[in-house]
Amino acid sequence: MSLGDGKNVLVFVEVVDGSPVNNAMEALGLGRELAQAKGEEVCAVLIGPDLDAAAEACAKGGADKVFTIAQDAWQLEVYASILGQLIEKYAPALVLTASNQNGRDLQAILANQFDTVCVSDIVGARIEDGTLILTTPLYGGGVWNDVKVASHPKFATVRAGTGKKVPPEEATSGEIIKEDVAPAADAVSTKVADVVKEVAETVNLEEAEVVIVGGRGMGSKENFQKVHDLAELLGGVVGGTRPVVEDEWVPHPQQVGQSGKIIAPKFYIGCGVSGATQHLTGILGSDFILAINKDEEAPIFDVADCGIVGDVNEILPLLMEEFKKAKQA
Ligand SMILES: Cc1cc2nc3c(=O)[nH]c(=O)nc-3n(C[C@H](O)[C@H](O)[C@H](O)COP(=O)(O)OP(=O)(O)OC[C@H]3O[C@@H](n4cnc5c(N)ncnc54)[C@H](O)[C@@H]3O)c2cc1C
Repeated sequence: MSLGDGKNVLVFVEVVDGSPVNNAMEALGLGRELAQAKGEEVCAVLIGPDLDAAAEACAKGGADKVFTIAQDAWQLEVYASILGQLIEKYAPALVLTASNQNGRDLQAILANQFDTVCVSDIVGARIEDGTLILTTPLYGGGVWNDVKVASHPKFATVRAGTGKKVPPEEATSGEIIKEDVAPAADAVSTKVADVVKEVAETVNLEEAEVVIVGGRGMGSKENFQKVHDLAELLGGVVGGTRPVVEDEWVPHPQQVGQSGKIIAPKFYIGCGVSGATQHLTGILGSDFILAINKDEEAPIFDVADCGIVGDVNEILPLLMEEFKKAKQA
Protein backbone atom coordinates (compact mmCIF):
# COMPACT_ATOMS: atom_id res chain seq x y z
CA MET A 1 0.00 0.00 0.00
CA SER A 2 1.37 3.44 -0.81
CA LEU A 3 0.06 6.83 0.30
CA GLY A 4 0.04 10.23 -1.39
CA ASP A 5 2.28 13.19 -0.50
CA GLY A 6 0.88 13.54 3.01
CA LYS A 7 1.21 16.35 5.50
CA ASN A 8 2.64 16.74 9.03
CA VAL A 9 5.22 14.72 10.94
CA LEU A 10 4.30 11.69 13.07
CA VAL A 11 6.75 10.65 15.78
CA PHE A 12 6.44 7.32 17.61
CA VAL A 13 7.48 8.03 21.19
CA GLU A 14 8.36 4.80 22.96
CA VAL A 15 7.36 4.75 26.63
CA VAL A 16 9.30 2.61 29.10
CA ASP A 17 8.05 2.28 32.69
CA GLY A 18 5.78 5.30 32.21
CA SER A 19 8.49 7.63 30.84
CA PRO A 20 9.17 8.64 27.25
CA VAL A 21 12.50 7.41 25.90
CA ASN A 22 15.01 10.29 25.67
CA ASN A 23 16.03 9.52 22.07
CA ALA A 24 12.34 9.61 21.04
CA MET A 25 11.85 13.02 22.70
CA GLU A 26 14.83 14.26 20.72
CA ALA A 27 13.17 12.88 17.56
CA LEU A 28 10.04 14.80 18.57
CA GLY A 29 12.13 18.01 18.80
CA LEU A 30 13.53 17.35 15.34
CA GLY A 31 10.04 16.56 14.00
CA ARG A 32 8.82 19.87 15.39
CA GLU A 33 11.60 21.83 13.61
CA LEU A 34 10.82 20.12 10.29
CA ALA A 35 7.06 20.57 10.65
CA GLN A 36 7.45 24.25 11.52
CA ALA A 37 9.68 24.81 8.49
CA LYS A 38 6.71 23.75 6.34
CA GLY A 39 3.99 25.39 8.46
CA GLU A 40 2.72 21.93 9.47
CA GLU A 41 2.13 20.03 12.72
CA VAL A 42 4.09 17.40 14.61
CA CYS A 43 2.09 14.64 16.29
CA ALA A 44 3.38 12.13 18.84
CA VAL A 45 2.03 8.58 18.97
CA LEU A 46 2.25 6.73 22.30
CA ILE A 47 1.24 3.08 22.63
CA GLY A 48 1.29 1.02 25.82
CA PRO A 49 0.19 0.98 29.46
CA ASP A 50 0.47 3.98 31.86
CA LEU A 51 0.73 6.68 29.21
CA ASP A 52 -0.62 9.71 31.13
CA ALA A 53 2.67 11.21 32.35
CA ALA A 54 4.45 10.49 29.06
CA ALA A 55 1.59 12.03 27.05
CA GLU A 56 1.82 15.14 29.22
CA ALA A 57 5.59 15.28 28.62
CA CYS A 58 5.03 15.10 24.84
CA ALA A 59 2.30 17.76 24.93
CA LYS A 60 4.79 20.04 26.69
CA GLY A 61 7.74 18.73 24.69
CA GLY A 62 6.76 20.05 21.27
CA ALA A 63 3.88 17.89 20.00
CA ASP A 64 0.88 19.77 18.58
CA LYS A 65 -1.17 16.61 19.06
CA VAL A 66 -0.48 13.51 21.15
CA PHE A 67 -2.31 10.32 20.19
CA THR A 68 -2.42 7.74 22.97
CA ILE A 69 -3.42 4.12 22.46
CA ALA A 70 -3.83 1.96 25.56
CA GLN A 71 -2.13 -1.43 25.09
CA ASP A 72 -0.06 -3.99 26.93
CA ALA A 73 3.71 -3.55 27.03
CA TRP A 74 5.83 -3.74 23.87
CA GLN A 75 5.04 -6.37 21.26
CA LEU A 76 6.44 -5.56 17.83
CA GLU A 77 3.60 -6.89 15.67
CA VAL A 78 0.91 -5.25 17.82
CA TYR A 79 2.59 -1.85 17.87
CA ALA A 80 3.41 -1.98 14.14
CA SER A 81 -0.20 -2.82 13.29
CA ILE A 82 -1.55 0.05 15.41
CA LEU A 83 0.98 2.58 14.14
CA GLY A 84 0.26 1.45 10.57
CA GLN A 85 -3.44 2.17 11.05
CA LEU A 86 -2.68 5.65 12.39
CA ILE A 87 -0.41 6.34 9.42
CA GLU A 88 -3.27 5.34 7.08
CA LYS A 89 -5.70 7.53 8.99
CA TYR A 90 -3.56 10.67 9.26
CA ALA A 91 -1.38 10.26 6.11
CA PRO A 92 1.73 12.03 7.48
CA ALA A 93 4.52 13.21 5.17
CA LEU A 94 7.20 11.85 7.53
CA VAL A 95 7.30 9.21 10.28
CA LEU A 96 10.15 9.36 12.81
CA THR A 97 11.21 6.98 15.55
CA ALA A 98 14.23 6.79 17.82
CA SER A 99 17.13 4.89 16.29
CA ASN A 100 17.00 2.18 18.93
CA GLN A 101 16.15 -1.51 18.55
CA ASN A 102 12.37 -1.07 18.74
CA GLY A 103 12.35 2.02 16.52
CA ARG A 104 14.36 0.28 13.83
CA ASP A 105 12.19 -2.86 13.95
CA LEU A 106 8.97 -0.83 13.67
CA GLN A 107 10.20 1.23 10.75
CA ALA A 108 11.35 -1.81 8.78
CA ILE A 109 7.87 -3.37 9.02
CA LEU A 110 6.02 -0.13 8.26
CA ALA A 111 8.18 0.97 5.35
CA ASN A 112 7.54 -2.45 3.81
CA GLN A 113 3.81 -2.17 4.49
CA PHE A 114 3.62 1.23 2.77
CA ASP A 115 5.83 0.10 -0.10
CA THR A 116 8.55 2.64 0.57
CA VAL A 117 11.99 2.76 2.21
CA CYS A 118 13.26 3.57 5.67
CA VAL A 119 16.26 5.84 6.06
CA SER A 120 18.05 4.49 9.11
CA ASP A 121 20.02 6.33 11.71
CA ILE A 122 19.79 9.90 10.42
CA VAL A 123 22.16 12.44 11.98
CA GLY A 124 20.38 15.46 10.54
CA ALA A 125 17.33 16.56 8.55
CA ARG A 126 16.35 19.83 6.88
CA ILE A 127 13.89 21.28 4.43
CA GLU A 128 15.48 22.78 1.31
CA ASP A 129 13.23 24.45 -1.25
CA GLY A 130 10.31 22.57 0.26
CA THR A 131 12.09 19.21 -0.05
CA LEU A 132 13.07 17.02 2.90
CA ILE A 133 16.77 16.16 3.03
CA LEU A 134 17.85 13.41 5.44
CA THR A 135 21.53 13.06 6.40
CA THR A 136 22.99 9.65 7.19
CA PRO A 137 26.51 8.57 8.14
CA LEU A 138 28.45 6.39 5.68
CA TYR A 139 31.67 4.41 6.11
CA GLY A 140 31.31 4.26 9.88
CA GLY A 141 30.65 7.99 10.17
CA GLY A 142 33.57 9.13 7.98
CA VAL A 143 31.23 10.67 5.38
CA TRP A 144 27.86 12.43 5.71
CA ASN A 145 25.40 11.52 2.96
CA ASP A 146 22.32 13.58 2.01
CA VAL A 147 19.30 11.53 0.95
CA LYS A 148 16.08 12.58 -0.81
CA VAL A 149 13.30 10.01 -0.78
CA ALA A 150 10.80 10.09 -3.64
CA SER A 151 8.14 7.72 -2.24
CA HIS A 152 5.55 8.51 0.48
CA PRO A 153 5.35 8.59 3.39
CA LYS A 154 8.96 9.01 4.36
CA PHE A 155 10.31 6.94 7.25
CA ALA A 156 13.47 7.67 9.25
CA THR A 157 15.05 6.56 12.51
CA VAL A 158 16.83 9.38 14.37
CA ARG A 159 20.22 8.76 15.96
CA ALA A 160 20.58 9.76 19.63
CA GLY A 161 21.89 13.31 20.02
CA THR A 162 20.55 14.47 16.62
CA GLY A 163 17.36 16.24 17.64
CA LYS A 164 17.08 18.79 20.44
CA LYS A 165 14.44 18.26 23.11
CA VAL A 166 12.15 21.25 23.59
CA PRO A 167 13.48 22.97 26.77
CA PRO A 168 11.07 23.48 29.73
CA GLU A 169 11.07 27.28 29.26
CA GLU A 170 9.67 26.76 25.74
CA ALA A 171 7.07 24.20 26.86
CA THR A 172 4.19 23.76 24.41
CA SER A 173 0.59 22.84 25.17
CA GLY A 174 -0.32 20.13 22.69
CA GLU A 175 -3.68 18.43 22.63
CA ILE A 176 -3.88 14.86 24.01
CA ILE A 177 -6.25 12.63 22.03
CA LYS A 178 -7.18 9.06 23.04
CA GLU A 179 -7.38 6.81 19.98
CA ASP A 180 -9.26 3.54 20.08
CA VAL A 181 -7.23 1.32 17.76
CA ALA A 182 -6.71 -2.43 18.09
CA PRO A 183 -4.17 -4.48 16.17
CA ALA A 184 -5.53 -6.09 13.02
CA ALA A 185 -6.67 -9.65 13.75
CA ASP A 186 -4.27 -11.20 11.22
CA ALA A 187 -1.30 -9.02 12.23
CA VAL A 188 -0.25 -10.89 15.34
CA SER A 189 1.21 -14.35 14.98
CA THR A 190 3.12 -14.49 18.28
CA LYS A 191 2.03 -14.57 21.88
CA VAL A 192 4.15 -13.13 24.68
CA ALA A 193 4.37 -15.77 27.39
CA ASP A 194 6.69 -13.90 29.72
CA VAL A 195 9.13 -10.99 29.69
CA VAL A 196 12.51 -11.63 31.29
CA LYS A 197 15.05 -8.82 31.45
CA GLU A 198 18.71 -9.69 31.12
CA VAL A 199 20.55 -7.82 33.87
CA ALA A 200 22.65 -5.93 31.31
CA GLU A 201 19.48 -4.66 29.58
CA THR A 202 18.62 -2.73 32.69
CA VAL A 203 21.79 -0.71 32.04
CA ASN A 204 20.45 1.99 29.78
CA LEU A 205 23.44 3.20 27.81
CA GLU A 206 21.36 5.16 25.30
CA GLU A 207 19.78 7.28 28.03
CA ALA A 208 22.86 7.71 30.27
CA GLU A 209 24.39 11.14 30.85
CA VAL A 210 27.78 9.72 31.81
CA VAL A 211 29.29 6.70 30.04
CA ILE A 212 32.68 5.14 30.83
CA VAL A 213 33.87 2.82 28.08
CA GLY A 214 36.70 0.38 28.59
CA GLY A 215 38.68 -0.96 25.64
CA ARG A 216 41.24 -3.68 25.10
CA GLY A 217 43.85 -1.34 26.58
CA MET A 218 42.42 -2.12 30.04
CA GLY A 219 44.46 -5.32 29.69
CA SER A 220 42.31 -7.84 31.59
CA LYS A 221 38.87 -8.48 33.06
CA GLU A 222 40.33 -7.82 36.52
CA ASN A 223 41.66 -4.41 35.47
CA PHE A 224 38.27 -3.67 33.90
CA GLN A 225 36.89 -3.36 37.45
CA LYS A 226 38.47 0.13 37.50
CA VAL A 227 36.02 1.15 34.75
CA HIS A 228 33.13 -0.03 36.93
CA ASP A 229 34.59 1.82 39.95
CA LEU A 230 34.85 5.09 38.02
CA ALA A 231 31.31 4.68 36.67
CA GLU A 232 30.00 4.12 40.18
CA LEU A 233 31.83 7.20 41.47
CA LEU A 234 30.42 9.40 38.69
CA GLY A 235 26.94 7.85 38.65
CA GLY A 236 27.61 6.68 35.12
CA VAL A 237 27.08 3.57 33.04
CA VAL A 238 29.75 1.14 31.78
CA GLY A 239 30.23 0.34 28.09
CA GLY A 240 32.75 -1.71 26.18
CA THR A 241 34.35 -1.89 22.76
CA ARG A 242 33.76 -4.96 20.61
CA PRO A 243 36.97 -6.81 21.60
CA VAL A 244 36.14 -6.57 25.30
CA VAL A 245 32.62 -7.81 24.61
CA GLU A 246 34.07 -10.70 22.61
CA ASP A 247 36.38 -11.46 25.55
CA GLU A 248 33.30 -11.37 27.82
CA TRP A 249 34.61 -8.58 30.06
CA VAL A 250 31.18 -6.94 29.58
CA PRO A 251 27.97 -8.37 28.09
CA HIS A 252 26.94 -7.61 24.51
CA PRO A 253 24.11 -5.18 25.34
CA GLN A 254 26.82 -2.89 26.69
CA GLN A 255 28.80 -2.75 23.43
CA VAL A 256 29.14 0.78 22.08
CA GLY A 257 29.57 1.45 18.38
CA GLN A 258 28.35 0.57 14.93
CA SER A 259 27.23 -2.93 15.86
CA GLY A 260 26.31 -1.98 19.43
CA LYS A 261 24.63 1.03 21.01
CA ILE A 262 24.80 4.55 19.62
CA ILE A 263 25.16 6.85 22.61
CA ALA A 264 24.96 10.61 23.20
CA PRO A 265 25.93 11.24 26.85
CA LYS A 266 26.98 14.57 28.29
CA PHE A 267 30.30 13.01 29.33
CA TYR A 268 32.11 10.04 27.69
CA ILE A 269 35.38 8.64 29.02
CA GLY A 270 37.26 6.16 26.83
CA CYS A 271 39.78 4.05 28.77
CA GLY A 272 42.27 2.19 26.59
CA VAL A 273 40.05 2.64 23.54
CA SER A 274 41.88 3.13 20.22
CA GLY A 275 39.08 4.99 18.43
CA ALA A 276 38.37 2.74 15.44
CA THR A 277 35.71 4.25 13.14
CA GLN A 278 33.23 1.50 14.11
CA HIS A 279 33.52 2.64 17.72
CA LEU A 280 33.64 6.39 17.02
CA THR A 281 30.44 6.23 15.01
CA GLY A 282 28.68 5.28 18.22
CA ILE A 283 30.03 8.10 20.40
CA LEU A 284 30.17 11.21 18.22
CA GLY A 285 26.92 12.55 19.70
CA SER A 286 28.67 12.88 23.10
CA ASP A 287 28.93 16.44 24.44
CA PHE A 288 32.39 15.97 25.96
CA ILE A 289 34.89 13.19 25.20
CA LEU A 290 37.80 12.41 27.51
CA ALA A 291 40.24 9.80 26.19
CA ILE A 292 42.98 7.94 28.06
CA ASN A 293 45.46 6.04 25.90
CA LYS A 294 49.18 5.30 26.12
CA ASP A 295 49.61 5.92 22.38
CA GLU A 296 49.54 9.63 21.59
CA GLU A 297 48.77 8.77 17.94
CA ALA A 298 45.58 6.86 18.86
CA PRO A 299 42.72 8.05 16.59
CA ILE A 300 40.42 8.65 19.56
CA PHE A 301 42.49 11.76 20.35
CA ASP A 302 41.30 13.25 17.01
CA VAL A 303 37.74 13.45 18.35
CA ALA A 304 38.48 13.92 22.06
CA ASP A 305 37.82 17.24 23.80
CA CYS A 306 40.48 16.29 26.32
CA GLY A 307 43.15 13.59 26.14
CA ILE A 308 45.48 11.99 28.67
CA VAL A 309 48.48 10.09 27.32
CA GLY A 310 49.57 7.38 29.72
CA ASP A 311 48.94 3.93 31.18
CA VAL A 312 45.23 3.74 31.92
CA ASN A 313 45.81 1.52 34.93
CA GLU A 314 47.94 4.24 36.51
CA ILE A 315 45.79 7.16 35.33
CA LEU A 316 42.39 5.85 36.46
CA PRO A 317 43.20 5.68 40.22
CA LEU A 318 44.65 9.22 40.04
CA LEU A 319 41.60 10.45 38.13
CA MET A 320 39.31 8.88 40.70
CA GLU A 321 41.17 10.67 43.51
CA GLU A 322 40.70 13.99 41.70
CA PHE A 323 36.98 13.34 41.06
CA LYS A 324 36.54 12.42 44.75
CA LYS A 325 38.23 15.68 45.82
CA ALA A 326 36.09 17.67 43.39
CA LYS A 327 32.93 16.00 44.73
CA GLN A 328 33.89 16.82 48.32
CA ALA A 329 34.80 20.47 47.51
C1 LIG B 1 31.58 -4.58 10.90
C2 LIG B 1 32.32 -4.18 12.16
C3 LIG B 1 31.58 -3.69 13.21
C4 LIG B 1 32.23 -3.30 14.39
N1 LIG B 1 31.48 -2.79 15.41
C5 LIG B 1 32.11 -2.33 16.50
C6 LIG B 1 31.38 -1.73 17.56
O1 LIG B 1 30.15 -1.65 17.54
N2 LIG B 1 32.07 -1.25 18.62
C7 LIG B 1 33.43 -1.31 18.70
O2 LIG B 1 34.00 -0.83 19.69
N3 LIG B 1 34.13 -1.90 17.73
C8 LIG B 1 33.51 -2.42 16.64
N4 LIG B 1 34.25 -3.02 15.68
C9 LIG B 1 35.68 -3.30 15.94
C10 LIG B 1 36.57 -2.08 15.68
O3 LIG B 1 37.01 -2.10 14.34
C11 LIG B 1 37.83 -2.12 16.58
O4 LIG B 1 38.48 -3.33 16.39
C12 LIG B 1 37.53 -1.95 18.06
O5 LIG B 1 36.73 -0.81 18.29
C13 LIG B 1 38.83 -1.78 18.82
O6 LIG B 1 38.57 -1.87 20.18
P1 LIG B 1 39.63 -1.33 21.25
O7 LIG B 1 39.81 0.13 21.03
O8 LIG B 1 39.15 -1.79 22.58
O9 LIG B 1 40.92 -2.16 20.93
P2 LIG B 1 42.26 -1.81 20.17
O10 LIG B 1 41.99 -1.25 18.83
O11 LIG B 1 43.13 -2.99 20.28
O12 LIG B 1 42.86 -0.60 21.02
C14 LIG B 1 43.36 -0.71 22.30
C15 LIG B 1 43.97 0.65 22.64
O13 LIG B 1 44.39 0.63 23.97
C16 LIG B 1 45.62 1.30 24.06
N5 LIG B 1 46.32 0.76 25.22
C17 LIG B 1 46.88 -0.47 25.36
N6 LIG B 1 47.35 -0.64 26.60
C18 LIG B 1 47.11 0.53 27.25
C19 LIG B 1 47.36 0.98 28.55
N7 LIG B 1 47.96 0.21 29.48
N8 LIG B 1 46.98 2.24 28.87
C20 LIG B 1 46.37 3.04 27.99
N9 LIG B 1 46.10 2.66 26.73
C21 LIG B 1 46.45 1.40 26.38
C22 LIG B 1 46.34 1.05 22.77
O14 LIG B 1 47.24 2.09 22.49
C23 LIG B 1 45.15 1.03 21.78
O15 LIG B 1 44.94 2.32 21.23
C24 LIG B 1 33.63 -3.42 14.50
C25 LIG B 1 34.35 -3.92 13.41
C26 LIG B 1 33.70 -4.30 12.28
C27 LIG B 1 34.53 -4.82 11.13
